[in-house]
Amino acid sequence: MDPAPLSLAQRAGHACAVCDKRWPRPTERIGDLPDGAPVLVCVECAGPCG
Ligand SMILES: [Zn+2]
Repeated sequence: MDPAPLSLAQRAGHACAVCDKRWPRPTERIGDLPDGAPVLVCVECAGPCG
């Protein structure tokens, strides 16, 4: 994924990569950054189909 649009908190996995919500913590992995860090989104953004 392209890390450019992501904030530092989003890149660090502290905030949802879609809606920027920090609580509850994003837990759904949707991809990886070029440096290997996981891109996380919250359950609502991941959707029932993941
Ligand atoms: Zn979200």
